[in-house]
Amino acid sequence: MRTAILYLVALAAGVAGILWLARLGGDVQLRAGDTEIVVALPLAIVAFAVFCLLLLLVASLIGWLRRLPARLRARKEAKRRGEGDAALTRALVALAAGTPDVARLEVRRARERLGDKPQVLLLAAEAERLAGREDAAADAFRLLAAREDSRFLGLRGLLRQAIQREDWPTAQRLAREAEAAQPGAAWLRQERETLALRTRDWREALALSAPGAGTAALALAASTQETDATRAGELERQAFAADAGFAPAALAHARRLKSAGSPRRARTVLEQAWAARPHPDLAAAYLAEETDPLQRVKAADTLVHGNKAHPESQLLIGRAALEAGLTGRARQELDALAGSGKADRRAYLALSDLEEVEQGDTPAGRAAQARWLRTAATAAPEPRWRCSACGTDHAAWDPVCPNCQSVGTIAWTAPQTLPVPAA
Ligand SMILES: [Zn+2]
Repeated sequence: MRTAILYLVALAAGVAGILWLARLGGDVQLRAGDTEIVVALPLAIVAFAVFCLLLLLVASLIGWLRRLPARLRARKEAKRRGEGDAALTRALVALAAGTPDVARLEVRRARERLGDKPQVLLLAAEAERLAGREDAAADAFRLLAAREDSRFLGLRGLLRQAIQREDWPTAQRLAREAEAAQPGAAWLRQERETLALRTRDWREALALSAPGAGTAALALAASTQETDATRAGELERQAFAADAGFAPAALAHARRLKSAGSPRRARTVLEQAWAARPHPDLAAAYLAEETDPLQRVKAADTLVHGNKAHPESQLLIGRAALEAGLTGRARQELDALAGSGKADRRAYLALSDLEEVEQGDTPAGRAAQARWLRTAATAAPEPRWRCSACGTDHAAWDPVCPNCQSVGTIAWTAPQTLPVPAA
């Protein structure tokens, strides 16, 4: 609107100018040699204006013709891009619908029109995988991995394929490359940890795991793979620090301290472990070198000092006192244990032995023994190392269940938490 008004104003000004000049009168003379042309001034001005206008038109036309091929190319390119995008969308729909043949066809169309763009390559790989053509999918992933901007996508696809065909060394290599391409990706960290556990690379698994419940077990497992004694000792110390109640770690740490000439520190470690979570193996290691029965009772008292009321403490003292002939002390501990409702089979067997020592081979002694043995037969079994995945019992802790190959499933299972056996 404003432009139209401006044009009208300019036109009016031009006409007014011409009319003013026409009233003013005058001529324009053009002389070339003997020829002389005389033109009225208004006419000359109009002719000049028309000439300028024509010149402008010709220049515009030339510019338009020069830009024409580029414009045609751009239009064609836009058309191709539109078709490619439409094919991509159809490929996505086909993938979601689970029709791999349609997806592959549409991806091929999109690839012809859009070229090897990351999103096209990714869809191509997914379509090939859906069609069960893993090799073709791998080719697409490799093309993705070769590009700087989509390297992580390609490596991620190749890693997933390696995991699927259980090629663990390749998977680990790809995971490391992907980590370098995209440091700190949470998904990748999780994948690398899983891979480390699958390949039994405990040190790597320990480095990748979040500090928590599994740290002690992983550190101890890593120490068994360590060839350097100093580093192995450091891992054992780390395992004990992570969970003082994890008996295998405490035992390994104490053993290392003792062999390094620090028996007192080794004993302290076992005492701390007992205070955290008593375990019969801790007592066996603590009392191993004590042969005098009375001294064994004293040593056992020192060991359980931080956790006296625990059933395992009561059983240990009761047993040690019984072996030293301190029947009063033994009865005090074992009766308390039996009365607590937390006793397992071992406590009743110890009480049976106590009756034998106290009453000898008498009818009353035999009757009392028989009573405890009957109770023992129906009592809860003693805790043991048990795999939570397959339910197999094991003589010792192991990071991997030898029976079902599960990782981190063997735990010291107290009788109270044992599942009721199926009838
Ligand atoms: Zn198992």
